Formats: sequence, C-alpha cells, structure tokens
Amino acid sequence: MSRPLREARVDLSAIAHNVNALRRNIGTPIMVVVKSRGYGHGAIPVAKAAVEAGAAWLGVVTIEEALELRSAGISAPVLAWLHDPDADFAGAIAAGIDIGVSYRAQLERVAAASGCPAVVQLKVDTGLGRNGATASDWPELFDAAVALERTGRIRVRGLWSHLANSGEEADLAQVASFSRAIEAARAAGLDPEILHLAATAGAIRVPSSRFDLVRIGLGSYGLSPFDDQTSADLGLRPALELSAGIASTKRVPADSGVSYGHDYRTERETTLALVPLGYADGIPRHASGRGPVSINGRRYRVAGRVAMDQFVVDVGDDAIEVGDRAILIGDPATGVPTAEDWANAADTINYEIVTRLGGRIEWTYAAAD
Ligand SMILES: *Cc1c(COP(=O)(O)O)cnc(C)c1O
Repeated sequence: MSRPLREARVDLSAIAHNVNALRRNIGTPIMVVVKSRGYGHGAIPVAKAAVEAGAAWLGVVTIEEALELRSAGISAPVLAWLHDPDADFAGAIAAGIDIGVSYRAQLERVAAASGCPAVVQLKVDTGLGRNGATASDWPELFDAAVALERTGRIRVRGLWSHLANSGEEADLAQVASFSRAIEAARAAGLDPEILHLAATAGAIRVPSSRFDLVRIGLGSYGLSPFDDQTSADLGLRPALELSAGIASTKRVPADSGVSYGHDYRTERETTLALVPLGYADGIPRHASGRGPVSINGRRYRVAGRVAMDQFVVDVGDDAIEVGDRAILIGDPATGVPTAEDWANAADTINYEIVTRLGGRIEWTYAAAD
C-alpha cells in the first residue's frame, strides 16, 4: 500500500512505552491528556493505547472532546475542565464524565443539569492565574459544594490545580498554596479523594507536586517540556513522524530566486525539491529559511519562504527523486529532525509544533505491540 503524500505517522507502541516509563519513574497514577486531538496525534488512538498501557485517567478540555472518547467506546475515567456557560453538563453526567469546576456559578449550573448527581473536581488557582478559584473565593466555592453534596446534586471527587512552571521556588509556593486549599476544603466538610497538581514538567521535576495523580500531556507523546533535557534524556520516544513525498524536482541555474519574495537565491546550479506541506498544514511560516528536513538520510533546510501549500529544499547535486520522503519531524535516534528543531526554527515550543498540524495531512497509526 502506498503511503499518503502527506503523512503524520503515530507509533502507538511509543505512546505505550512513554506511559509505562513515566508511570514507573514517577510512581503516581497517570492521567494522559489527549486534548486538542491528542496534541495533534489523534485523541482516540492515543487514548486507547494509553489506557491499555495503564493510564488511570484521560484528560480533555471540553465536554465535546470527552464525549468523542465515549463514542469511541473508551470507558476509562475522563475529566473535562474548560466549559462555556452553555456546555452540555447533562451530556457529561450521562456519559460519566468528571466535570472540572472553577467557580460557584458554574458549580450551580452543573448542579442544575438533568441527570444529577454530577461528579465534579473543583479547580483552585494556586498561582497560574488562569482557570480556578482564587484563595479568596475558596470559602464560597467549598461551602456551596458542601451544600450541593448534601442535596445529592453533586459529588466532589477531586480537588486540583495547575503549575505555572516559573521556577522551583514558584512551583513549591504553588504546592504550599494547594496544600492550604486541601485543608480549607476539608475544613469546609468536603472529602475529595483525588488531589492533583502536576503536569509533565512538575511530575518529573517537582516530586512534592505529585499528590494522587499527575496529568501527563507532552511526555506521553515522547516530547520533553525542558530546554535542557531531550526526550532521550527522559527515557521517552517521540511518537510522531511527519513526512511528505517529494512532489517535484528540477535543475536550476545559479542565482535562481526561490519562493515568494526571493529571500533565497541559489549559489550555483542545483536541484530544487518541492515538499508539499505548507502553513495550511501547520508548518510554521516563521520557520522560513530555517526549518530542517531529512531526505534519504541527509539534512537540508527550507529554502526561502514556507508558502500555504509547499516549500522548497535546495538539495545541491544529490540524487533526489519524486516520491522520496522528506521527513520533517521524527525520533532523533534515527537521525531526523525533531519537533524541538522546528520549535527553535519558528521561535515557539514543541507543544505548538505538533498540536498545530492539520490541513491536508493524513494520520496513520502503527499499532502498539
Ligand atoms: C494541557 C494541560 C496539562 C498537560 O500538560 P503537559 O505539560 O502537556 O503535560 C495538564 N493540565 C492541564 C490543566 C492542562 O491544560
């Protein structure tokens, strides 16, 4: 069977390996975060592989994302945590999805949804400044939750927060703040059985942030959240390989302008190879002139600007033919560029590089062994 022209190939055995490695190293049950199409890897295949490999929970942002997991037959515990006021709380309750709740009015909307009791996990802000109740609102939120538990409309299963990753001292201050929230919740009469704070970075580097569960997104995909440690340093395997078949090649003379604006001109007679991936597919235009590709085991760079649908590589006198694969992202153990390389070329982070992939790319899966 021929490969798709533009292929994101996800190795589910790498997902399983990463979940297992992280579980072993961290020693805490793991929630694998599959929001945003599984960080561009495909939420459902990743979720299935993760649960098979021992993930205790799955995490998503929206109730829609959670319901897609249920529609695919995934029955593992799922938490969804960012809701618009009209979110389908009744749908979440019916599907047995835990609802992250950040403020009192939201708690009341959840408790008013049909099908209650709703299972909720209260989110507190311990310093990130995003979602979650700030300390001054804890009493109000916790008291309301106790009252609603008594009426049987809700059950508070968890209490949680999220780290800002702004240094060890700040992380530890958040751990302390989270511990105060736990005490306040208990003093109010709540008995949350699952406490969680850490994502990948905290889970690996801040042991005191692990509590009962760690929410692992990036690490599950085999990517490192750190500038100073690679995937391999962490014992992780990048699961995604992004490649495209060369769509055309041609010889051009010296001083030929390449792509819009002619930011690149050939130094001498050379071969140009056309890669059919562009910013419509999620390749950052900001990586123009810099993004790395590997073709037949050799490294090249994007020549000139990344366009909507394509970019050009100057391959010199190398014998490259239509149909040869240009690998943009893969496992550096095989000598190919990484999501980090593209992140550096585009002044962003590996999270964004993989999550933004889309457009005309086709996803294929190598099964977990
Ligand atoms: C995305 C997200 C995570 C996962 O973060 P990683 O750094 O990818 O592990 C965990 N918790 C929350 C609240 C998130 O939004």
